[in-house]
Amino acid sequence: MSRLVPAKEMLDKALKGKYAIGHFNINNLEWTKAVLTEAQELNTAVILGVSEGAGKYMCGFNTVAAMVNTMMETLDITVPVALHLDHGSYEGCLKCIEAGFSSIMFDGSHLPIDENIEKTKELVKLAHDHGMSIEAEVGAIGGEEDGIVGAGECADPEECARIASLGVDFLAAGIGNIHGVYPPEWKGLSFETLAAVKEKIGDLPLVLHGGTGIPTDQIKKAISLGVSKINVNTECQLAFAAATRKYIEAGKDKEGKGFDPRKLLKPGTEAIMETVKEKCEIFGSIGSAK
Ligand SMILES: [Zn+2]
Repeated sequence: MSRLVPAKEMLDKALKGKYAIGHFNINNLEWTKAVLTEAQELNTAVILGVSEGAGKYMCGFNTVAAMVNTMMETLDITVPVALHLDHGSYEGCLKCIEAGFSSIMFDGSHLPIDENIEKTKELVKLAHDHGMSIEAEVGAIGGEEDGIVGAGECADPEECARIASLGVDFLAAGIGNIHGVYPPEWKGLSFETLAAVKEKIGDLPLVLHGGTGIPTDQIKKAISLGVSKINVNTECQLAFAAATRKYIEAGKDKEGKGFDPRKLLKPGTEAIMETVKEKCEIFGSIGSAK
């Protein structure tokens, strides 16, 4: 029995309550345990994001779904949890529907708008037939992987309206945000774009990708303007790496059984939990699960 829920309801609720739900990407067992445990502790709904690369790394989407489901049972996680494919290809979406995920993102932003629309339409039907939620993207979100190191792209509000009308449950629109660490010359989020998109799409929750390093006041303003899901990935990775480095540089792995992976990975795991807490505080979702 799956305890997973689609992300639609938690995001609709967040939009009404003017807060946002954190989407945290997971990479392994420790990551998953850290995010689930902390979400339960904070009494907030949470979205576990899995990229296609991370899915492959964790031995496929079936393994991920089985791990998350079993872990939720063992840890008795009762807050709403969605298992969500992040930046999925068309084929990746089909695989996650089969694997028992509760939510998918179809990233057709690199496709011509007509093809993006056609594939999104098809996947909306499939996802909803399986009781899952679906996110779509308009206006590619920049980042190192795309070789873009300046301002992120801004979505065309008209295109957002077209994709929104296909029945997607929430929409990622580029508003100058980028993946990874923001360069010093970054100009900040485009609130004009956000407001223009919002006007076109009405009550559809918006998603902000690239949540790492956006100043808190800009995050809060984005939430007040209709952003209900914020993706955090790099920040947890940086926190994990820094804590692990500190442990090793302090020579802790050479003290007694400090080399035991359960000890070696502990500071990093705790650093992820701390990051989740800091983010949920900013997003305003703490205590919102009941
Ligand atoms: Zn993203």
